[in-house]
Amino acid sequence: LTQLFRPLDMLGMVYRTIRQGLIDMAAMFQLIDTEVEVRDVPGAPALVIARPTVVFDDVVFGYEPDRTILQGLSFEVPAGQQVALVGPSGAGKSTIARLLFRFYDPWSGRILIDGQDIRAVTQASLRASLGIVPQDSVLFNDTIGYNIAYGRDGASQADVEAAARGAALMDLIERLPQGFDTPVGERGLKLSGGEKQRVAIARTLVKNPPILLLDEATSALDSRTEQDILTTLHAVAEGRTSLTIAHRLSTIADADTILVLNEGRLAEQGNHAALLRKRGLYADMWARQAEAMDEAGVAAE
Ligand code: ADP
Ligand code: MG
Repeated sequence: LTQLFRPLDMLGMVYRTIRQGLIDMAAMFQLIDTEVEVRDVPGAPALVIARPTVVFDDVVFGYEPDRTILQGLSFEVPAGQQVALVGPSGAGKSTIARLLFRFYDPWSGRILIDGQDIRAVTQASLRASLGIVPQDSVLFNDTIGYNIAYGRDGASQADVEAAARGAALMDLIERLPQGFDTPVGERGLKLSGGEKQRVAIARTLVKNPPILLLDEATSALDSRTEQDILTTLHAVAEGRTSLTIAHRLSTIADADTILVLNEGRLAEQGNHAALLRKRGLYADMWARQAEAMDEAGVAAE
């Protein structure tokens, strides 16, 4: 009888993995109405990752035939490094994330993960290797424990607790009368924006993906909560390969490499100090944000 049920379990797992992936991605990219038009190559193998490197190799892409968005973009995220992606609104940052998840294929050029072209492997294996922490997370009408365990089929209570600790959720959970069994979501306990964000982080920790994609647009949170969440996110990214779309430059000043994107091209690349010395686009953006923060500081007093 167990033999009979195994394929069904497998199906359930695949379904959950895909559904979870789609929910996260829809939340991150606001893609609810987007048709997924990319298909697996027949007989495609799974992505196998020994060293989680990400390479964009001369990628050209646009959403419409007459408008090129990425104009031959090349960069590398070395295994275990924290790389930040910055640039003006409309520069193509989210487009890079969408291509990495293979929502679309490039017109030309390649995207490689550990040397494997992402077009050649199954989308399920690709998406299982990538963790996203979207700025706006979806909770199910179920317990907080279930919402965390959802990150990976077969997660044990110990996995869930470790993830909750990593996401700095234990203080909250210990205060709840039913602990991990407390219902949350629309029909349960309403969590704050920051708490929901932490559940999403815990879910990602349970999934334990080698590559993380973070979107730092935590604008929905007050600045103290945002700071706390960013601290947690940065701790979670440590030791993994991470690509962070950053909105406030102050939060990514310690990234190993900062990629400055402008009009679909890599305008500058380097660490914070090197980019400031360059006195180019990054230095300008940094000066403008510092100024804006000074003004906000004065206004608050
Ligand atoms: P960023 O995240 O850096 O602000 P995006 O990658 O979202 O920029 O967008 C880059 C460009 O692509 C923008 O000019 C945007 O208007 C355009 N764009 C984004 N999504 C679509 C889409 N689905 N269809 C057509 N154009 C799009
Ligand atoms: Mg964007």
